[in-house]
Amino acid sequence: MEREEAIRKLQESVGEENVLFSDVDLTLYGYDASLEKGRADAVVLPGSTDQVSLVVRLAYQEGIPIIARGSGTNLSGGTVPVRGGIVLHFSRMNKILEVDIPNRTVTVEPGVITLDLQTMLLKQGFLYAPDPASQKVSTLGGNVGENSGGPHCLKYGVTTNHVLGAEVVLYDGTVTWIGGKNPDNPGYDLMGLIVGSEGTLAIATKIILRIIRAPEAIKTMLAIYDSIEDASNTVSAIIAEGIVPATLEMMDHVVMEAVEKSVQAGYPLDAAAVLIIELDGLKDGLDRQAAKVLEICKRHNVREIQLARDEAERARLWAGRKGAFGAVTRLRPCYMVCDGTVPRTKLPEVLNQVMEVGKKYGLLIGNVFHAGDGNLHPLILFDERDEAEKNTAMKAASEILKICADAGGTISGEHGIGIEKLREMNFIFTEDDLETMRKIKRAMDPKDVLNPGKVIPN
Ligand SMILES: Cc1cc2nc3c(=O)[nH]c(=O)nc-3n(C[C@H](O)[C@H](O)[C@H](O)COP(=O)(O)OP(=O)(O)OC[C@H]3O[C@@H](n4cnc5c(N)ncnc54)[C@H](O)[C@@H]3O)c2cc1C
Repeated sequence: MEREEAIRKLQESVGEENVLFSDVDLTLYGYDASLEKGRADAVVLPGSTDQVSLVVRLAYQEGIPIIARGSGTNLSGGTVPVRGGIVLHFSRMNKILEVDIPNRTVTVEPGVITLDLQTMLLKQGFLYAPDPASQKVSTLGGNVGENSGGPHCLKYGVTTNHVLGAEVVLYDGTVTWIGGKNPDNPGYDLMGLIVGSEGTLAIATKIILRIIRAPEAIKTMLAIYDSIEDASNTVSAIIAEGIVPATLEMMDHVVMEAVEKSVQAGYPLDAAAVLIIELDGLKDGLDRQAAKVLEICKRHNVREIQLARDEAERARLWAGRKGAFGAVTRLRPCYMVCDGTVPRTKLPEVLNQVMEVGKKYGLLIGNVFHAGDGNLHPLILFDERDEAEKNTAMKAASEILKICADAGGTISGEHGIGIEKLREMNFIFTEDDLETMRKIKRAMDPKDVLNPGKVIPN
């Protein structure tokens, strides 16, 4: 089918104003928060499941790639149209359809912004726990696509632990439901397969999420250290004592310097690292838990612990952490995040190796990460306009992921594979593993129209 005819058919399906194909639009939808770039043939803004189904059916019949897109904040190239095709942008499908308190669920369209749902629920005393630092802009569809994590996922689990069911559009436009409000479903865990599949197996058009009661009390502390090693050892020690804080986040001095230039969160500029430790739960017993945490921090040479005295102080500490990625661009124009994960006891050793990689390549690397999960985020700082420096940064990133894999960890804790980490898949999977994944992809998308070229190397 000629491009003009395909565009006319798309316009018939979703309305003329909901099909974009100008040069500017196609350039804007050609990238995401990764370094990769591509170019779509058209961008479609569907308003309903029926419209998604029509568009996917057309794409299937004509063998046109179809790329689901939330807010395009993924960090691995997941929404880059590497083979052209149709970008399906869910900004119009952004309604919270149902809040079902007795069943502790919400049903949402994929374009709902994560924080909008959380803010609405909190007013009713409930929580949707997964909180990627990008929650102000990320969508729930994108969170499902990436199986996103966040600071509070240490205690509450990542996105997959909160998705009970979804209405999905399959490769040929068929609409079906997977899972539902039941906490457990018989048969294969298809929902588990789809969460984190980066839009390569099915497209979610409605999502049922588990919600929980908001904690009665919260205590947020900033533990300040003169050595990264002491901060890292504190992380394993707290968990080894049987305490699972709501968050255990770490930041090193490079990141704190950038944050202070940007949001003035009050981080100490002369410290080597800080931990943001948040405890939550019932009021009774929380002081005792905090005292225990303090004792463990002292055992690991903490220099000082500051307790947030009120909500404003807590918000200030979190504003710094959540704005950290953006803030580092004050130091260098671009950053590349290595989302490797290691067993948390390996943190001190692996962080040292990460620093060695930085020295070897002459690159500045900052660290801000979900320490409790052992999920590192070394931010390699560079200037994209300098091709040689960019290539060096990419080489360093790959080396860091290899270090994580060799330490018994993996190459992505939450940011997905997309196209940026295709080469690194063989650090953790054998050719037989990859072939099994290809078989699943072929079974669920025989013509390879759903986000082709992502997740599994050819
Ligand atoms: C500053 C910053 C901080 C971040 N912090 C975190 C963090 O703490 N934790 C974390 O996990 N991530 C983080 N991220 C990465 C990113 O924000 C998350 O991956 C987020 O879930 C992406 O949401 P999105 O709406 O932007 O999705 P997009 O980037 O638009 O899409 C992500 C993937 O999901 C697929 N997809 C989108 N919609 C659907 C759908 N309806 N059905 C099926 N597949 C779909 C896409 O094809 C793509 O593969 C951060 C990113 C930035 C820029």
